[in-house]
Amino acid sequence: MERLAIMGGAPVRSRPFPAWPVWDEEEIRAAEQVIRSGRWGSTAGDRVNELEKRFAAYQEAAWGIASTSGTTALRTALLACGIEYGAEVVVPAYTFVASATAALEANAVPVFCDIDPHTYNLDPRSLEAAITPRTQAIMPVHLAGLPADMDRIGQIAARHGLAVVEDACQAWGSSHRGRKVGAIGKVGAFSFQSSKHITAGEGGMLVTDDSGTARVCRSLVNCGRTESGAWHEHHLLGGNYRLTELQAAVILVQLGRYDRMLERRQEAARYLRRELSKIEGLSPLAVPDYVTATSCHLFILRYDKQAFGGLPKARFIEALNAEGIRPAHGGYYIPVNRQPLLLEKNVGPFDAIRRHVYRGRLIDYAGFDCPVAERACTDEAVWLLQNLLLADKPDLDDIVTAFARIARHFDQLLE
Ligand SMILES: *Cc1c(COP(=O)(O)O)cnc(C)c1O
Repeated sequence: MERLAIMGGAPVRSRPFPAWPVWDEEEIRAAEQVIRSGRWGSTAGDRVNELEKRFAAYQEAAWGIASTSGTTALRTALLACGIEYGAEVVVPAYTFVASATAALEANAVPVFCDIDPHTYNLDPRSLEAAITPRTQAIMPVHLAGLPADMDRIGQIAARHGLAVVEDACQAWGSSHRGRKVGAIGKVGAFSFQSSKHITAGEGGMLVTDDSGTARVCRSLVNCGRTESGAWHEHHLLGGNYRLTELQAAVILVQLGRYDRMLERRQEAARYLRRELSKIEGLSPLAVPDYVTATSCHLFILRYDKQAFGGLPKARFIEALNAEGIRPAHGGYYIPVNRQPLLLEKNVGPFDAIRRHVYRGRLIDYAGFDCPVAERACTDEAVWLLQNLLLADKPDLDDIVTAFARIARHFDQLLE
């Protein structure tokens, strides 16, 4: 009888999947040039400037402003929108914590809405229910690179007079009805952190079509300076959130390689979607009609443990890893509103949430009801990480074989 690898059988594969990051002599040359030039900071060199122009053009935005990370870019975006102390920012409960901490560090109050069960993106109905007279912004997250429902979000924002700040930190090259994401709303943020598709270890980028917002963002990441002002003249409470020339040089090389790799990932994702959908109890996230391109940052499946005899998700993933499918994991395992930082309001001086009244009561983050996000965290979401999507066809077949084998023999894992 065929034994699962976790039960001592031979694994489907033992070779690793392609490594991440992908780099070659070009990154080395680009970094070397910067080092030899002696112009390591953006105030002396031209690499950051060029990256801002090229990245904005790539995302079809008028302006790009580099920043140290996706997190600092999101916070800068909220500040540039003029979000006031104690104003509410609606954030989906299923995202990286930075979507919410960016709001906290802008002295705003993140409030949470649930996600759509098919796309895991912000659910517009739940969004609308979360809005109060104190709401000033909405932060859709294009999770895994899948664009959120920007038409409905835009309509809701217009009706309530809210700013839309896109968390596009997983969505380089993603597009919604033919328009690249990032500057569909007022302003958007991207990340170049190590785990992302375009990386220099760390880094971030703001994009916007609004010149006033761009001007404020540029000042906020550069110590509150203005473009025409003197070096020691500071107009806003900004910080030093400048990207370095070394980072920009590396990111420029990565950006030049991006479309080729994106096509590979998209093709792999299409193949996995088709093949894994055939397995009872596994449903890849839906791709609605308004999605015209996705970055395929992650390949997320919904695991229905009922179809696997009640086998817990964690055990299913252990079995998958044992078959040689790595990195694959369960993704976010706590909805953001249940992070200890929010439950305990451990927010240092960013204390807008301590006395905040939401719907007639002192805000209590345990009180947000986001059952879909909850289920995604505990029972449902299975993530295949980005480098798996760079694999060749036979490697992709190993992924399908491993899932199919566990689906055939899950009873070996049930006590
Ligand atoms: C990575 C990420 C961020 C933060 O980006 P950093 O560059 O790591 O600060 C924010 N939101 C989402 C959804 C992300 O995936």
